[in-house]
Amino acid sequence: MPKEEIYQAGSVRYLQFHHLQSAGLLHGFTLRQGGVSRPPYASLNMGLHVGDDEQAVRANRRLAAAALGYPAASVVVGEQVHGTLIAHATPELAGRGHASMTDALPGTDGLICTDPGVVLMAHAADCTILFFFDPVKRCIGLAHAGWRGAVAGMGPLMVEALLKLGCRPQNIRAALAPTIGPCCYQVGENVIEQVPQEWRAQVIHRAAAAYYFDLPELQRLQLQAAGIKAENLIKSDFCTACRPDLFYSYRAAGGQTGRMAGLISMKW
Ligand SMILES: [Zn+2]
Repeated sequence: MPKEEIYQAGSVRYLQFHHLQSAGLLHGFTLRQGGVSRPPYASLNMGLHVGDDEQAVRANRRLAAAALGYPAASVVVGEQVHGTLIAHATPELAGRGHASMTDALPGTDGLICTDPGVVLMAHAADCTILFFFDPVKRCIGLAHAGWRGAVAGMGPLMVEALLKLGCRPQNIRAALAPTIGPCCYQVGENVIEQVPQEWRAQVIHRAAAAYYFDLPELQRLQLQAAGIKAENLIKSDFCTACRPDLFYSYRAAGGQTGRMAGLISMKW
C-alpha cells in the first residue's frame, strides 16, 4: 500500500497518508486544482492572507469542507507567524480564523486537540505542514514550519505538547506533507548557520557553488530523535517547487501565489 495517495472528491484533489487513513482519521492536504481563485492564485487557494480575493478563498474553503466532509464552522486556524507557539484547540474556538484571518489564533503555528469534531487547519506553499495522531490517547496535532520553525524545533515541540496531554511517543503517528525539497531549496549562510550543528552535514548539501537545504529531512530526524518510531513516520516524496501542476510553491512562483491546506480531525 502506498504511504501517500491523491484522491479527488468533486473538483477538489487532496493527498492522504496511509497510516492516518487506516486509522479512520479525517485528514488531507489540498492540491491546487479545482477552486475558484484566479491567477496567480489559481485555483484552490486556501490562504486568506496572500492578497487573493477573500470571497474566492472562502468559496475554496467551502469546497474543501464539502470534499473532505467536515462542517466549515468546526475549523480552527492559527495566525502562522513562523514561530513555535502551540495552542490547544477546543470546541469553544471552533470557527476561529476560518471566515477571516482577523480572529485566527494569534501568534500560533501549532495546534493540538483532544476533542472529536474540531477540525485543525494550517496552510503552506513550500513550508512544511506536520500532522500528528495518537490513536491510543486520541489526540491530534497540526503544525506549520518553514525553515525558521524547523530549526527552532517545531516538530519536537509538538511531540512534547502531545506528551503533556498523556500521549506516548511510540504511539504517535506523524506525517510531513509535501514541502520544498533539497532539489530546489537553495539557501544562504543566514539559514545554514541556524541549522542545529548535529544535523547540518545530513541536511545541507552543496551543489556547484550553492547550498541546498533538506527541510523535510531535518524534521524527520528531529521527530525520530523525539521518539517517533520510523514505521509511524511518513515523509512525503513530493517537492512543491518541482510540481507546479499539483502544488503552490512560494519559491517557484517568485512570492505571489496561493496556499495548500492541511486538515485533520477526529470524527464527531
Ligand atoms: Zn524540487
